[in-house]
Order: sequence, then structure tokens, then C-alpha cells
Amino acid sequence: SYKGWFYVIITALIFFIFIRRHIEKLRRAERQAQESDRLKSAFLANVSHEIRTPMSGIMGFAELLKEPGNTGEQQLEYIKIIENSGERMLDLINDLINISKLESGQMKLFICEFDLNEKMHLLYQFFKIQAEEKKLELFCKLGLANTDDAIILSDKDKVISVLTNLIKNAIKYTDKGYVEFGYIINEGTIEFYVTDTGIGIESDKQHSIFERFVQADISLARSYEGAGLGLAISKAYAELIGGTIWVDSQYGMGSTFYFSIPYKKALAQQANS
Ligand code: ADP
Repeated sequence: SYKGWFYVIITALIFFIFIRRHIEKLRRAERQAQESDRLKSAFLANVSHEIRTPMSGIMGFAELLKEPGNTGEQQLEYIKIIENSGERMLDLINDLINISKLESGQMKLFICEFDLNEKMHLLYQFFKIQAEEKKLELFCKLGLANTDDAIILSDKDKVISVLTNLIKNAIKYTDKGYVEFGYIINEGTIEFYVTDTGIGIESDKQHSIFERFVQADISLARSYEGAGLGLAISKAYAELIGGTIWVDSQYGMGSTFYFSIPYKKALAQQANS
């Protein structure tokens, strides 16, 4: 009868929809598993590389230090290499601790008042030496001249950490030209920027570099230090303090990283205005 057929068709339809949903779900789970597998392998490869390289530096140059005929100058050079390798390992360990704190939701916010211009100046002083070593020019531009307006409320350490990461990368991935960093005030936000004339990033990679362990060019990244965690941590910090981070880059020409946070003046300044 028609009624019988009607029930058969409806049941078949429901069954079909159910099966399709189920297959889609399985496919999604498979894709996620593959992606997490890929990330895990990248993690292991990056982390082992980031441990092995400085570790060989430490072991090798400690061995060389033991040789009796070294001049004082040579000794200093070897000690510097050992120091740098130690710092590189410490950076990796700190990054790993921070990423796991972020992922387990244990990263806390500490909002305080601080002088933004003073911190920008300190960053300039700190990175000037590194830029000079690579014969790069370094510029710092401030968006607020008035020192009172530049006393802001935010998580100081996280703001500095994001900027440090971005400037460090800009110097690392630039061999010629300049690096400029600064900020402008734009519709109630502080918009930081870090521009470089470096290797740039292909447009199809510009989104994924903010993910953990992702490096734009794996073969290229091998000749640079880093485990691919800096931008993932920076993005998480930016979001924690109510901001965003993005990049605008031309492959082979250079990149500009932007980082914007709400512009909140210090309480005393808010009361005055
Ligand atoms: P890494 O430790 O590899 O530097 P990051 O998370 O800081 O990790 O950056 C991820 C990737 O983004 C880098 O491996 C690099 O390919 C790319 N990248 C980051 N900053 C720049 C830049 N200023 N210029 C060109 N490429 C960059």
C-alpha cells in the first residue's frame, strides 16, 4: 500500500541521513587524528633538533676549552658559544612550559600600570646590539608622545613577551635592510607593528605559522634556530589580553606583524580626562 511505501521511504531516508552523519563524523575524527599525528612528529623533530644542536655546542666547546694551548681570546669565544647554547636551550624550555600552561588553562593574567614608551625604549636598547651584529638598522616609533597618556593598563609581561618574540623573529629572518617596530593608537586600541625587509612568508603559509610547531619552510627553518612555538605563544598571549595578532607579508620582500590590544589608560589618567 502507499502508506507502507511511505514508511519504508521515510525510514530509509532517516537511515541514510544517520549513516551520512556518522561517516562525516568518522572522517572528521580521522582528519583530526592525522593532523595531530603530523603535529606530534613535527614537535618531536623540532624539539630534538632544538635540544641536540645547542647540546652539541656545549659539549663540543667544553671539550675544546680543556685543551691547554688556548689563548685567552679563544677561551672567551668558546665560553660565549657555550653561553649562547645554554640560552637557546633555556628559551626552548620556557616556551614548552608556557605552551603547556596555556593549553591547560593555567596561564594567569596580571594587569598592572606601566609606561609603554619606557618599555619600548628598553626593547630598542636590547635589540639594537643584535641588529648591529647583523648590520641591520633598527628603528622604534612611538605613537604617544605624552608620557602620561603612555601609562597604560595591561599585562606588562605578556605585551613585552609578544613584542620580544616579533622583534626577535624580524631580526632572525632578515639579512639585509632594516627592522622597524612601534605602535599607533587606532580606534581605542594600541596597534603595535614590527616590519622587516627579510625573507617574507608565502601567502598560503601566513595563517598556519601561528599554530604550534609550524614553520613556514621546514627546510629553510632548519638553518634558523627555533622550535616553531614563538608565534603560537604570542597569539595565545594576545588573545588572553583581549587583543589580536596578524601578519601582512610579501614573499622575498619582507613582513609586517601586527599586534593590537585595547588602549586602557592608567586609572589616574582616566580620572583626569
Ligand atoms: P620559530 O621558532 O620557527 O621562529 P615562530 O613560531 O616564531 O617559530 O615562527 C613560525 C614561523 O613563521 C617561522 O619558522 C618562520 O617560517 C615564520 N616567520 C616568523 N616570523 C617571520 C618573519 N619576520 N619573517 C619571515 N618569516 C617569519
